[in-house]
Amino acid sequence: MGKVAVGAAVVCAAAVCAAAALVVRHRMKSSGRWARAMAILRELEDKCGTPIGKLRQVADAMTVEMHAGLASEGGSKLKMLISYVDNLPTGDENGLFYALDLGGTNFRVLRVQLGGKEKHVVKHEFDEVSIPPHLMTGTSEGLFDFIAEALAKFVATEGEGLHPAPGRQRELGFTFSFPVWQTSITSGTLIKWTKGFNIEDTVEQDVVGELTKSMEKIGLDMRVTALVNDTIGTLAGGRYHNQDVIAAVILGTGTNAAYVEKAHAIPKWHGLLPKSGEMVINMEWGNFRSSHLPLTEYDQALDAETLNPGEQIFEKIISGMYLGEIVRRVLLKMAQEADFFGDVVPPKLKIPFVLRTPDMSAIHHDSSPDLKVVGSKLKDILEISNTSLKMRKVVVAVCDVVATRGARLSAAGILGVLKKLGRDTVKDGEKQKSVVAMDGGLYEHYTEFRTSMECTLKELLGDEVAEHISVEHSNDGSGIGAALLAASHSQYHEVEES
Ligand code: ADP
Ligand code: MG
Repeated sequence: MGKVAVGAAVVCAAAVCAAAALVVRHRMKSSGRWARAMAILRELEDKCGTPIGKLRQVADAMTVEMHAGLASEGGSKLKMLISYVDNLPTGDENGLFYALDLGGTNFRVLRVQLGGKEKHVVKHEFDEVSIPPHLMTGTSEGLFDFIAEALAKFVATEGEGLHPAPGRQRELGFTFSFPVWQTSITSGTLIKWTKGFNIEDTVEQDVVGELTKSMEKIGLDMRVTALVNDTIGTLAGGRYHNQDVIAAVILGTGTNAAYVEKAHAIPKWHGLLPKSGEMVINMEWGNFRSSHLPLTEYDQALDAETLNPGEQIFEKIISGMYLGEIVRRVLLKMAQEADFFGDVVPPKLKIPFVLRTPDMSAIHHDSSPDLKVVGSKLKDILEISNTSLKMRKVVVAVCDVVATRGARLSAAGILGVLKKLGRDTVKDGEKQKSVVAMDGGLYEHYTEFRTSMECTLKELLGDEVAEHISVEHSNDGSGIGAALLAASHSQYHEVEES
């Protein structure tokens, strides 16, 4: 072999060695990355842990806060607002009633024809209207004028057999899902606009008064007989169909709960005791917080960046608005600290709220062998391509941890309410049933979440008690519920009774 050939052989061998070393280093690096990513996942699991003992502490804390919130204004993070709903529908209601739903994803108008115990809801029609964005940031007068007009248009389409009884005013239940300081069943002052509504001139505005003014302007003769929120509407809708309904929980973009309380068990109640002896309490449980809640660095960072830091902590770890965002934050940390998606942090992963909860649930529910849906969601939403099956499994695991924590804490919250009502135990021979009416997109569409919540509640209650308690989907309770409350609080109600 000549010198040149030897030299070439040496160079080649060196190159082979260098390449081999690169492969080894790459493997070591990638196994190092993998280990770091796994450590982040393990830590997340650990911090989000909700063993049954912890859930019981959360439930107990919920009960304690409920007592405190009922005792005095500002006595707790739980506002425990008196709704003035003291007449839940019985199923006997008769006639035509309207409802308006403002404050959810869509603005809706609807009417129902009620046929009493025998026929129940004879007919039900609704219309969904989108609110022009400029009205969401304009004046309240502009917004209420628009709503009144939409309502008038809808009234004009009353068809065969759908008219109010002769000589009677049309009556409306108004589902207004914003924080309201209620002073009677038909009057309340808006505390503040939320959810993208940014109306300047509405400090301490009388909500029903504003709507009534706008209706009068266009000659629409209609009277608001119930001002409620979506949670109370759901409770009413549930109760109408099943008299065992004692509470309602919303798990949607946000979360809230309402329940039926004995009026004498509300120390801060200074009004007349209602005839029924009962009063619906709007808990505003999204604002619940307790040292027992398992919070992580991701929750703390998310909270700090919201418009209302320190508030709505329960909501921020449970509800549809936030679950996907928590997952994004975990994946971002994996990308930044473990190069989980490669050497470059995927830029899209840095965008707050880019991963929505419906996408998270699609990832979580992917049952294909190669996790195809996970792959395509990562690609479409985060522009992360070429993910291995192993990586996709980690992403699913993150969704599972975050959803499971939310679901199990929701169950603990429900147990807290049942405890307050003394319905978390059964006495010998007792047959009393308790039903919790549920609604909201998260509950409805996120099957893993719903199943986990329901299993956890059973686990917390134990078999014997669980037989007496059920969770039922109150379908569109929030829309029809307000119309049912308009009926049960009708101005003609007393006349009919006497
Ligand atoms: P809102 O709470 O605005 O009144 P919904 O009760 O319909 O409206 O809930 C909508 C919320 O439900 C969405 O913001 C989303 O977080 C959640 N959601 C909707 N669809 C799904 C889904 N397929 N999987 C998981 N969550 C969903
Ligand atoms: Mg809603």
